[in-house]
Amino acid sequence: MIRITLAALSFVVLALLGRPQAVLADDLPDLGEAARSEFSPQLERKIGERIFNEIRLREPSYVDDAEINDYLNRLGSRLVAASPNPTVDCQFFAIRDNTVNAFAMFGGFIGVNTGTLLTAQSESELAGVLAHEISHVTQNHLARQIAREKQNSIATMIAMAVGVLAARSNSQVASAAIASAQAGSIQSQLAYSRDFEREADRMGYQTLASAGYNVRGMGDFFGRLQQAGRVYENNAPVYLRSHPLTVERISDMQNRADGSPYRQVADSVDFHLVRARIRVQSSGAREAVGDFGAQLREKKYASEAATRYGLAYSLLRAKEVAAAQREVEALLALKLSSPMIAGLAAETRLASGDQAGALLIYRDALQRYPQSRALVYGYAEALLAAGQYEQGQRFLDAQLPLYASDYRLYGLQARTFALTGKRLQQHRAQAEFYLLQGQLGPAVEQLQFAQQATDGSFFEQSAVDARLRELRKLQAEEAKQKRNGG
Ligand SMILES: [Zn+2]
Repeated sequence: MIRITLAALSFVVLALLGRPQAVLADDLPDLGEAARSEFSPQLERKIGERIFNEIRLREPSYVDDAEINDYLNRLGSRLVAASPNPTVDCQFFAIRDNTVNAFAMFGGFIGVNTGTLLTAQSESELAGVLAHEISHVTQNHLARQIAREKQNSIATMIAMAVGVLAARSNSQVASAAIASAQAGSIQSQLAYSRDFEREADRMGYQTLASAGYNVRGMGDFFGRLQQAGRVYENNAPVYLRSHPLTVERISDMQNRADGSPYRQVADSVDFHLVRARIRVQSSGAREAVGDFGAQLREKKYASEAATRYGLAYSLLRAKEVAAAQREVEALLALKLSSPMIAGLAAETRLASGDQAGALLIYRDALQRYPQSRALVYGYAEALLAAGQYEQGQRFLDAQLPLYASDYRLYGLQARTFALTGKRLQQHRAQAEFYLLQGQLGPAVEQLQFAQQATDGSFFEQSAVDARLRELRKLQAEEAKQKRNGG
């Protein structure tokens, strides 16, 4: 459940726009020209990053799982590459919530509820939902919609920016800005216009087709959603409220699909594995062991690999390492190629104390799937666990230039430096770890610790001094913005 309040997000957006910080429910400032003229792609990206950081840091339903987010990004980037604007920057993440929803925020950040992954009956259906959201990004619908609204209140803007927040049926967001009399109008303004929805359907359809997915997936999924909406009446799936579906839109999608040759597209292994992983995480480990074990005995499954994966993963979570190891062996015997299977095999080895075996699996898997973040983190962790600090350091040094905005890599680097007693370097890495998560204060503090460390070379100390000057300047600018605003 999304618990970040609209008020908290207004601070974020207002700070970026240099507007007054005091936002009261009944005193929402009018964005006016700001929304129309100041939405440069850079500003959009900044707003998106800040909101995403807020979600990642403070939102309990944010799915902090590299495997699940890796999967969404693999699927998403395949779709982006097939979209009319393949250079657009999109980042996908999951929200643990059983309702069906997906939403595009400023800056190309696209959130997907786990309920969407579980409800989709094929990977093409899920791809259809993502392709639709990607089209909202490539067509710049958010900024265009805001510019179109007559009253550009900050609340409208934020509600639009974080589609799901205000749309939730029993949202705790209601306690904040939205609790005002404006709530109703925000809800009505939240939805994209029908023109934008139609455009996202059309572009999404093309993207889905050029990426090689079954184009019927979109119409099927949306059709089922609408059916569900009819059953629930006033409690329609949230997705329908932020993306109003009309009979016309659904028949459009079905007509388009009817004109195209029928194509059966097989789901990827990972589509099924990721669903099993979500199921395991949303129940207790013991309960999941029981469920997946029963499915396997009764052969009641759509994918044997996913059922074995679910069983092995839940056994590992239940700390039954030997049994998990046996299930992993059975899974490997299926000879499927997946970074998720390799990751689980390595984790299980590590849990059983076989560090050398785990490292071997990671090294081999990283050759085949160099872009899997889950494998990168896992390998670095395994090197640290095995006490191979120097190798760990070299590995992270090679990864950092490739993923300069990955705060986890800096966190791992800081830990490696801490383990080898390199204090200056440890605090310097920790500062970047905080900075990339938008935490300027703690970042400055870490650089001050780095300054006090006496184990750095002259050049390292100069670099710390220079970085601290930069961050202090940023801090001063933010303070000035606050003063001017209030
Ligand atoms: Zn939409």
